[in-house]
Amino acid sequence: MNVFGYWGGFYNDPWFWQFPMATLAISMAAFLIVATPWTIVAWLDPVSLRKYKIQQKPFEVKKFLLPSLGRIFINNIILAALLVLIWPLLKLTAVHNNELPDWYVVVAQLVFFVLLDDFLYYWMHRYMHENKWLLRNVHSVHHRVRNTCGINGNYMHWLEYVLTATLTLVGSVLVGAHIYVVWLWVIIRQIEGADGHIGYDIPWNPVHLLPVYQGPVYHDFHHARFKGNYAGFLPYLDKYMGKTYIPAYLNYLKAKNKGLTAAEIDLQNREELNPSRAGRQSSRQ
Ligand SMILES: [Zn+2]
Ligand SMILES: [Zn+2]
Repeated sequence: MNVFGYWGGFYNDPWFWQFPMATLAISMAAFLIVATPWTIVAWLDPVSLRKYKIQQKPFEVKKFLLPSLGRIFINNIILAALLVLIWPLLKLTAVHNNELPDWYVVVAQLVFFVLLDDFLYYWMHRYMHENKWLLRNVHSVHHRVRNTCGINGNYMHWLEYVLTATLTLVGSVLVGAHIYVVWLWVIIRQIEGADGHIGYDIPWNPVHLLPVYQGPVYHDFHHARFKGNYAGFLPYLDKYMGKTYIPAYLNYLKAKNKGLTAAEIDLQNREELNPSRAGRQSSRQ
């Protein structure tokens, strides 16, 4: 067997570059395009935006910037290597670059991908909290940051990164999606992954235009409280199926509807949890 010929075959196959490799590159670019500006904002921590900070305590940007970049770099190399290894199987799937489907088929596929990915991610994420070994050795890396900024969205153990990426691709493989739809989907998924960690609840955040997405507060509560709010896009799994909904999140939404800013709600919550300490802090400000 010509081993070099076998491996060299990857480089001569345009579909190998278009499907796994371009998808990986587009996915990472989408993440960085959303995560980078928000990370800079968190680094600068401008006074004008502090009222929108979900947690009023300082961001941990400097402490976790290099570890985040390092993990992202290594995780992508590991994922690329695994994609090379499973390519003989991946190229047997029905994902294609033939004719594009009608727009309504694309919309239906994207809705299906969101529903399926959120369902699978909810259970995987929840299991990572319930299984003590996985929590201690894998998922705890992502939870080192309690007050996150954009770049921390992909700060995770390589195994979690690979598993999350695998779940993301399940829908596309099942329906045999067009490669452009796969790219659109991974862009949406990475926007969610980055935005969920930006640490700000800003009314003019363009991501609020994504119809089913909850916004960054949902996942921020997961980092702050550690238990509950395991889903990514949709709250129904936490709320109805798993009973893992964080009640304080509902209170947050109610207070926001009354016109309170993130900062005012955070102060209110801290006063409820620890009245004397929060009172002293607010009088010092
Ligand atoms: Zn978690
Ligand atoms: Zn997170």
